[in-house]
Amino acid sequence: MSIPGSNRKIVVIAGAGPAGLTAALELLRRSEFVPLVFELDGQVGGISKTVNYRGNRMDLGGHRFFSKSDWVMRWWQDILPVESDARNPNEPVRIAYQSQSHEFVPAADTPGSPDAVMLVRQRLSRIFYRRQFFDYPLKLNASTLRNMGISETLQIGLSYGKAQFMRRFPESSLEDFLINRFGDRLYRTFFKDYTEKVWGVPCGEISAEWGAQRIKGLSVRKALAHALTSPFRSGVDTGQKQTETSLIERFLYPKLGPGQMWEEVAQRVARQGGEIHLRHRVVAIEREGFKVTAVDVLDQADGSVRRVPCDVFISTMPVKDLTSLLAPPNPQVARIAASLPYRDFMTAGLLVRKMRNTGNQRASVAANGMPPDNWIYIQEPDVKIGRLQIFNNWSPALVADPGTIWLGLEYFCREGDELWSMDDDKFLEFAARELESIGMIDRRDVLDGTVVRVPKAYPAYFGQYSEFGQVRAFLDLFSNLYPVGRNGMHRYNNQDHSMLAANAAVSSIINAGGGKSEIWEINAEEDYHEEIKTRVA
Ligand SMILES: Cc1cc2nc3c(=O)[nH]c(=O)nc-3n(C[C@H](O)[C@H](O)[C@H](O)COP(=O)(O)OP(=O)(O)OC[C@H]3O[C@@H](n4cnc5c(N)ncnc54)[C@H](O)[C@@H]3O)c2cc1C
Repeated sequence: MSIPGSNRKIVVIAGAGPAGLTAALELLRRSEFVPLVFELDGQVGGISKTVNYRGNRMDLGGHRFFSKSDWVMRWWQDILPVESDARNPNEPVRIAYQSQSHEFVPAADTPGSPDAVMLVRQRLSRIFYRRQFFDYPLKLNASTLRNMGISETLQIGLSYGKAQFMRRFPESSLEDFLINRFGDRLYRTFFKDYTEKVWGVPCGEISAEWGAQRIKGLSVRKALAHALTSPFRSGVDTGQKQTETSLIERFLYPKLGPGQMWEEVAQRVARQGGEIHLRHRVVAIEREGFKVTAVDVLDQADGSVRRVPCDVFISTMPVKDLTSLLAPPNPQVARIAASLPYRDFMTAGLLVRKMRNTGNQRASVAANGMPPDNWIYIQEPDVKIGRLQIFNNWSPALVADPGTIWLGLEYFCREGDELWSMDDDKFLEFAARELESIGMIDRRDVLDGTVVRVPKAYPAYFGQYSEFGQVRAFLDLFSNLYPVGRNGMHRYNNQDHSMLAANAAVSSIINAGGGKSEIWEINAEEDYHEEIKTRVA
């Protein structure tokens, strides 16, 4: 198959998220293949899109732009340069994230629109628990001890000591894993409720290996040793990330939210001859043996279905959808893929006039009560909200009226459950009431609101995932099929991992299939760094 009148081959891409768009642009930059991207949503960006509600922009989850990969860091800056600091135009900028850092000098002047830039932002996120603020990551410092109180601190210490002498054996669940390392009391205080809120599964039903993979190096003993040997340090990072002041976490952030990056990329794809079709869903995939020959695409505007022949198919759609659409299906593989677990996610965007100055803020609060955090973990067991985003602190440009506070109240849920099915107005009312009940706002100060639902926000690693190897082995048999991306590979990708997988797929396509297995090596062993992972954590 080739474009009529030319011999350029066609790559169909399902999905215009970070993976699909990176693949499209790299194909155009590095090859003669023509990418045709089909995206079921009405906008690009996937989970990394920015939702614009009456001029107020929402980032679904809070997307920090930082990568250990120099390639990704350069790639992003090529699309959106870093805003140069007017005060120190030649000063290098250092950004740091989870003990990795990058230093660069931003472009002297930024061509194009002054909004087409990335900002350098400093992270502040805290834990809100017992109507008090705790440092995140949790620190063994005077403030934490003060918040907990002497009696509670003693009980935590005793419970930790007991766990060291009476270890749970065998250590089969995440609960066993956490109690053995932190003691029952600390586990129940800081891990249990939040983890169960996030995953909707009791910690006793999550495997211990899963914890081991995510909580490498986190231990009370090390934290205590560190605290005792460093009396002059302001606090100890229980994540052992050794945050020196010069390495305070700073990350890049597109001025108009993460979707701005992907909207810019989409424009480049279109300018360079690729096609992006929004509101088009891939609904069937034809194959001859282990070769994809065409896809059927439903135009959601008029209900018509078009058959699109292709030479290569890149899929960023969920693996369970991919395997069910591949005709004829492999029943064993389709059975496993159909049961792969996910966690879904809802955000209530609330525009408020002011906030209440809550608890022990210990940080400068604006005149209207807005705390300085990018986001706050809500650890309170009496509410369902998991995290609170304060969009003003990600980028002031996300907010239409700087005199207002634009909040994202994040809920972890399951598609179709009680929260998910709640009517939007009821959900907004419920979310506002929750925030009021923990003392953060007065509901009468709510000016406006909207609801965004994100299905399959988190591919989960329990349940049927143990058999995922069979799905991968089946998909690997296809010579011209490239599953990439977060749900595309059922892997906890951040944007950079999805981009690296897409780029590796493009290299393999250019090499006529060579190096295909390298795609699965991306983000296979790395430490997770999306926040939910470390909190699970
Ligand atoms: C709460 C949260 C916080 C996060 N924080 C960060 C962070 O701080 N930093 C970071 O880098 N990453 C973060 N991430 C991860 C980031 O959102 C993802 O890694 C990234 O969006 C994955 O890109 P992707 O292209 O692989 O998949 P997606 O973004 O899921 O894109 C896939 C696209 O495919 C489309 N699609 C699906 N099925 C079809 C079909 N049948 N036909 C056509 N189109 C289809 C979807 O509509 C979607 O647009 C976070 C994620 C969450 C949920």
